[in-house]
Amino acid sequence: MVSRVIPVDPFDLVIFGGTGDLARRKILPGLYRRFLAGQMTDDSVIIGAARSELDDEGYREMVAKAVIEFTPKDKLDRDGLTRFLAHVRYISVDGKVSGGWEKLKEVVRQGVVKAFYFSVAPSLFGELAEKLHRHGIADAESRIVVEKPFGRDLASARALNRVLADHFAEEQIYRIDHYLGKETVQNLMAVRFANILFEPLWKAEYIDHVQITVAETVGVDGRGAYYDKSGAMRDMVQNHLMQLLCLIAMEPPYHFDPNAVRDEKLKVIRALDAVQPDDIVRGQYLAGNGQGSYVEHSEDPNSRTESYIALKCHVSNWRWKGTPFYLRTGKRLRARTSEIAVVFKEPPHTLFDDATGWRENVLVIRLQPNEGMELSVMIKEPGPGGMRLKQVPLDMAFATALGAEAADVPDAYERLIMDVIRGNQTLFMRGDEVEAAWAWADPIIQGWEARGDKPQGYDPGSSGPEDALMLMHRDGRRWRDIRE
Ligand code: NAD
Repeated sequence: MVSRVIPVDPFDLVIFGGTGDLARRKILPGLYRRFLAGQMTDDSVIIGAARSELDDEGYREMVAKAVIEFTPKDKLDRDGLTRFLAHVRYISVDGKVSGGWEKLKEVVRQGVVKAFYFSVAPSLFGELAEKLHRHGIADAESRIVVEKPFGRDLASARALNRVLADHFAEEQIYRIDHYLGKETVQNLMAVRFANILFEPLWKAEYIDHVQITVAETVGVDGRGAYYDKSGAMRDMVQNHLMQLLCLIAMEPPYHFDPNAVRDEKLKVIRALDAVQPDDIVRGQYLAGNGQGSYVEHSEDPNSRTESYIALKCHVSNWRWKGTPFYLRTGKRLRARTSEIAVVFKEPPHTLFDDATGWRENVLVIRLQPNEGMELSVMIKEPGPGGMRLKQVPLDMAFATALGAEAADVPDAYERLIMDVIRGNQTLFMRGDEVEAAWAWADPIIQGWEARGDKPQGYDPGSSGPEDALMLMHRDGRRWRDIRE
């Protein structure tokens, strides 16, 4: 079975910051793979736009290097790369000065989908948006793609929204959260809303709690000074973990339509209670395993920024009253893994004498590695030894279940860029969603800043600070193991 690839309309995609890290690691290799898959039509053009003085040939060389470096060897097709490069151009422009913009105007065509990817620092968004309009390059049909971080608090996110809104309508703005482009995340919606099996149980009456974990093994070395201004709450929880929480907790939208889905996500964020200080644990990794500590990497011995956070929150609505959501994310942890675990309650009555083997049903949605889902159920332990219970997984690893089709699954950036060209905003954050998430996060951050809370140290390669274990233990629950 081979997945169906439907070509998108012809487009001109301008990548501001086309020589930057994100463009080289994700955007350009992603476009190359969509080109090879036949999704990008032969009359589409990718235009790198950045400050460096390069010509088309010089940029193509850079793109070729990036594609080779960031494409798995078995997926690299050299002839395909040569054909892809014929669609790549370069214009030198500076968002801060006027040079280069008239040239860009000559290159960008009329009559095709026009998309402008702002893969640059957010401080440039306003100037890029304004110049695209002043020079008559963008029109009412054009789309812009903006990257995280979308603000560092509610005030700055509002200011960014206002700047973009001066030149573009909300329907033209695509705020990327690459977690939403992951196959499993969309599958979560399919599993919830295309089956009758789960939805009747999807409520506080049957769900004990939900755990969302995004664990990384890397530290912040190399970009510590930058990360230190952000921390795990701003960098991960306010956006990625919040989006996952929304997809788990939202009501069924009336249709799989961008605004219908985003309306339901927004209602979840607005229903979140304020998080109590006792329900938050922040951590910083210590030195170990031959690596430096967080404070060494951040170059600030007094840094109070967290490289780890765990918190418990509540969605105060009819469906979820009483079911806690535990979120945790951190760096330098035991394994690189992202998962959502929906832990069900015990059956109301035990009819088996030997229930020692009993464990709760858990639906695990794995985002990485090995994207897939696993539902643990109780069965009878095989053999003649009476009625003993045993927990077994019903495992649906996509790679096994779908074979070759799963191998062709586009990565998050590929899918999201194609969605921009198609004009489908379902998997992008709306301005009001981002603001609501900051309105929830701001008081939490302000609280620990006002109290002067210091993060707790944790060993590299561990599961995080001791207090994070206690956050669960005191509720009579435990975190799932962090493992690949
Ligand atoms: P980078 O520093 O590697 O690249 C920045 C790019 O912007 C370069 O191409 C540079 O030439 C261009 N640029 C800088 N000033 C300019 C100006 N005045 N006019 C025109 N172009 C200019 O940055 P990056 O890591 O590629 O990140 C780009 C954006 O994406 C940032 O907002 C970042 O927060 C976001 N982001 C990056 C990653 C990542 O993995 N790198 C992940 C998520 C989000």
